Amino acid sequence: MIDGREVNVAAGTTVLASARSAGIDIPTLCDDPRLEPTGACRLCLVEIAAAARLATACTTLVHAGMDVRTQTPELEAERRGILELLARDYPAVQPTTPPANPFQQYLREYGIAAGGDVRPPDQIDESHPYIRVDMSRCIDCFRCVRICRDVQAQDVWHLWDRGFDTVVHPAGPSLLESPCVACGACVDTCPSGALEDRRLPAAAGPLAWTRTTCPYCGVGCELEYGTQAGRIVAARPVLDAPVNRGHACVKGRYAFDFAHAADRVTQPLVRDGGGWHSVEWERAIAHVAQRLTDVIARYGPDAVGVLGSSRATDEDNYLTQKFARLVLGTNNVDCCARVCHAPSAEGLKSMLGAGAATNSFEDIEQARALLVVGANVTESHPVVGARIRQAARRGVPLIVIDPRRTEVAREATIHLALRPGTNLPLLHAMASVVLDDQLQDDAFLAAHVDGVDEFRRFVREWTPARAAAICGVSAEAIARAARVYAGGRPAMSVHGLGLTEHTQGTDGVRALINLALLTGNVGRPGAGVNPLRGQNNVQGAAQMGCDPGLLPGGVPIEQARSRFEEAWGAPLPRTRGLALLDMLDAASAGRLKALFVVGYDILLTNPNANQTRRALEALDVLIVQDLFHTQTSSLAHVFLPACSTFEKDGTFMNAERRLQRVRRVIDPVGQSRSDSEIIADIARAMGRGDGFAHVQPNVVWDEIRRVWPAVNGITYDRLEHGGLQWPCPTVDHPGTAVLYRDGFAHGRVSLRPIQVHPTDEATDEVYPFLLTTGRTLYQFNAATMTARTPNNELRPADTLDLAPEDGARLGLREGDDVRVISRRGVATLPVRLTDAVRPGHAFATFHTATSAVNQVTSDARDPVGTPEYKVTAVRIEPAGVRL
Ligand code: SF4
Repeated sequence: MIDGREVNVAAGTTVLASARSAGIDIPTLCDDPRLEPTGACRLCLVEIAAAARLATACTTLVHAGMDVRTQTPELEAERRGILELLARDYPAVQPTTPPANPFQQYLREYGIAAGGDVRPPDQIDESHPYIRVDMSRCIDCFRCVRICRDVQAQDVWHLWDRGFDTVVHPAGPSLLESPCVACGACVDTCPSGALEDRRLPAAAGPLAWTRTTCPYCGVGCELEYGTQAGRIVAARPVLDAPVNRGHACVKGRYAFDFAHAADRVTQPLVRDGGGWHSVEWERAIAHVAQRLTDVIARYGPDAVGVLGSSRATDEDNYLTQKFARLVLGTNNVDCCARVCHAPSAEGLKSMLGAGAATNSFEDIEQARALLVVGANVTESHPVVGARIRQAARRGVPLIVIDPRRTEVAREATIHLALRPGTNLPLLHAMASVVLDDQLQDDAFLAAHVDGVDEFRRFVREWTPARAAAICGVSAEAIARAARVYAGGRPAMSVHGLGLTEHTQGTDGVRALINLALLTGNVGRPGAGVNPLRGQNNVQGAAQMGCDPGLLPGGVPIEQARSRFEEAWGAPLPRTRGLALLDMLDAASAGRLKALFVVGYDILLTNPNANQTRRALEALDVLIVQDLFHTQTSSLAHVFLPACSTFEKDGTFMNAERRLQRVRRVIDPVGQSRSDSEIIADIARAMGRGDGFAHVQPNVVWDEIRRVWPAVNGITYDRLEHGGLQWPCPTVDHPGTAVLYRDGFAHGRVSLRPIQVHPTDEATDEVYPFLLTTGRTLYQFNAATMTARTPNNELRPADTLDLAPEDGARLGLREGDDVRVISRRGVATLPVRLTDAVRPGHAFATFHTATSAVNQVTSDARDPVGTPEYKVTAVRIEPAGVRL
């Protein structure tokens, strides 16, 4: 009973949560559902019948028959006393309507005036572009300290001094100079206004909030974006979102301004001899239709290529590939999955059955060992990175395979800092130790796996000592890592592009799957092989059929031709499609004449940029559909202005196969249109509007459900109540968090003995360093979006990381510009000296055109067409000292 009302809740529920579930509000200042309750503020005191003392509602669990009172004169007096004490030092700020934060709200409710000094503006820490710090408003609830430590695992906020003198302060002279990663969790939790978003309009008034999915990485966090007068002004993570559980990173939480950037292209543009000219949509569409028709008439449909966008919705990508196949008549359609996780999709599909993660992010909390391969998780997938760091802090053994000493590697139980390009020998050697030590799961192997004896014979050759000599890590460390992984069942692996972007990227993924199969770590919670997909919808773009060989659902064309021809009412092209880099090769060779690029800056992000430039320059027609001018559009003939994902409805598919709704937060900016609308308009202008009559996302999604049985049970109505993971074949199916729990679709699976073929990209006297590339936390891909936000202040430029010893040897100081020269080209960027990279190695971020790091990277590729971004032999020279 709470306040005389009967409340039924599950055992283990707190009094506070029980009261809230019944709509009874109990005041509290230190409670946050993301944190363990502490009862520290004591504002939530309640009276429990027959109890000797008042109890804190947040820490007291209910039991059957408990009789609780939340409002009595004694309780009100207790609460008033606590608030009066806190108000004594709280700045006597002018109260706002509505009150700016929960603490001010309580003061108003209890009629208590604050009596502290107002801190002069110069004593307020405004160093950070997103967060204002005014610790005169701190009420010592320590929620910021706890959320930073327990959720983000970052430890920015520290307690200084003791007792009444305790103050909270960032670990640095200012917040900007602290290790803060701007996830915003401390601001979200602060109840007193000590930490605030700087950019909230002063007279904010009520904001209209819309729940949607983050437009950045493949984690797929759900956030609410707040709008005022048609502009996005705020964001907050969704507390009950299964993926992020009330957390976010600096990109989703703060980097939304790009939608309103002044240089957004909002009108169609056509280029002629005099440069770009704005034209009406009708003319732009007619022009594109005519140019494509001319190319097809002259050279045939396979002279045209189309690239879908990993930033666009599933529905947009579905229509994009349908446009390529039905309207243009070519299978030349691909997306950026080609240059990142195509090896993951191929490796997983060829060995297990589905080209997607076997498990879910939820499994991180269930794993008894974690293996991170080639993934800088805290920068590229920050919310997942925070969960992995939390697991490590709880004592879960963590193995990190990465040439660099990344943030997560610093917390690892074992860090194998291997030589770039040597994943395969290392994973083979780990498998060899598992078998030598008889740590394999014999029952699992007997039930599900073939080829064990052959694999055992093969892998016996890969002793830790042999691998150690190749990989540059000790044999003992390799053996220890194998034992930790195999001994920690369930053990979960996550991997990134450090595993896939190699000439044997697919084989690297297969070797990781071998290890998981050997140890029975497939088909169970807390286990599996899980590629961390890079862009928000890269899994979806490929799964929708933006792939030259696969139709929607990831099914090979020849297996499903008749089914799709019947569904679409038209024949599918018979010729084999070209993958992304093959399209560019064909363009250079004069066989591909037109390229239609949706939301993708290939010139900046593809390897060997000089080669990409030559290919694009050779085209007769280059059409770019994007939000902003990009490096690629600098060579385009037509620019079609697309909506951002804040401006349309649809779905994204995250890295764990979860379909989530994307909802329109603001109206389309200027004349921009959704990718689907533009594609359908062009189809109609080319006389093939029949398959594109409907572009409403829900109608397109229903068509996708009809052609892809694994998502048939996922309806927009169901998605209103949260995301669902495929396979989900019927509308009463709950979705699938863990694949292969009931075995494998084709019965048994096989271990793969995989020969090792060392990369041709070798260092020598001229090119003595091994360069790898990757992301920084603050920028995203080609930085088209993040560079137009204050994230640019937090990380404005690409950098080249070098070991201090190498810096000293080359006479370089922090910040000096260096020329990075490879066999393909030259990039110039400032140097950072850090112990994160080993001597002889270098690491560069690749986000900006200024540095153009992909001038130097290698376009040697894996059989599935993924380039070897992660191994480039380079020479490094001073380029003059920066001022
Ligand atoms: Fe967005 Fe990824 Fe950050 Fe989540 S972790 S807020 S999905 S960028």
